[in-house]
Amino acid sequence: MIKFDTVNKFYGHYHALVDVSEQVSKGEVVVVCGPSGSGKSTLIRTLNRLEPIASGRIEVDGQDIHAPGLDLNQFRSRIGFVFQQFNLFPHLTVLDNCALAPTRLRGLSRTEAERQALALLERVGMAHKAAALPAQLSGGQQQRVAIARALAMQPPLMLFDEPTSALDPEMVGEVLLAMRDLARDGMTMVCVTHEMGFAREVADRVLFMDQGRVLERAAPEEFFQRPQHPRAQQFLSDIR
Ligand code: ATP
Ligand code: MG
Repeated sequence: MIKFDTVNKFYGHYHALVDVSEQVSKGEVVVVCGPSGSGKSTLIRTLNRLEPIASGRIEVDGQDIHAPGLDLNQFRSRIGFVFQQFNLFPHLTVLDNCALAPTRLRGLSRTEAERQALALLERVGMAHKAAALPAQLSGGQQQRVAIARALAMQPPLMLFDEPTSALDPEMVGEVLLAMRDLARDGMTMVCVTHEMGFAREVADRVLFMDQGRVLERAAPEEFFQRPQHPRAQQFLSDIR
């Protein structure tokens, strides 16, 4: 589903991704962790071409994402992306937030888009707030709506970049629960998160990054019980 082949990325002179080669299979849930500045956001931002790369190749679903002539909007609409900051449209209701893109980009009728949006809101436990505006919701609720909105485009792949780190602690659980349900339904997911409980319980694989390199990749039980790389050992002892 995803293939990085010797990907390098620079910000000016700073080498932000160093020879990254990784694969993610369909249905796999991969958690990316590592210290601040290690390149986690850069890694997943390169995946939907929010960041250009200097060399190497990235494939999504067998397609070279830098191929000339690729329709960028169409490509991006097939990857759901949930960020740290809830970026719902403030002037639209919860339902409209979720129904807008499918009417414009999937060619659904208004009625059908709303029907599907409501079903997705149901799935993240937010159907009862369909008529509310984002400002009337808690952070955790907004983030669950953001997940539903991303799902409304029926993406085969979901990317998460610290979706819970801007939330009050009591709201983290509800968002992680929505993500866990998504994972159990077979969604292919790449999640940058500091929630190691989530990684342990939900991830098929954990990637550990430091200074632009993926230093370790392992099943969660391996990674947490027997981290191999000294930097991974250090990272885990720092967060415990
Ligand atoms: P955090 O856990 O703090 O979110 P991260 O692992 O997501 O960190 P990145 O945001 O990918 O780290 O950044 C990796 C490195 O690249 C950092 O040293 C950062 O300062 C640098 N960097 C990121 N974005 C830019 C940019 N737009 N211009 C210049 N340098 C950048
Ligand atoms: Mg980041």
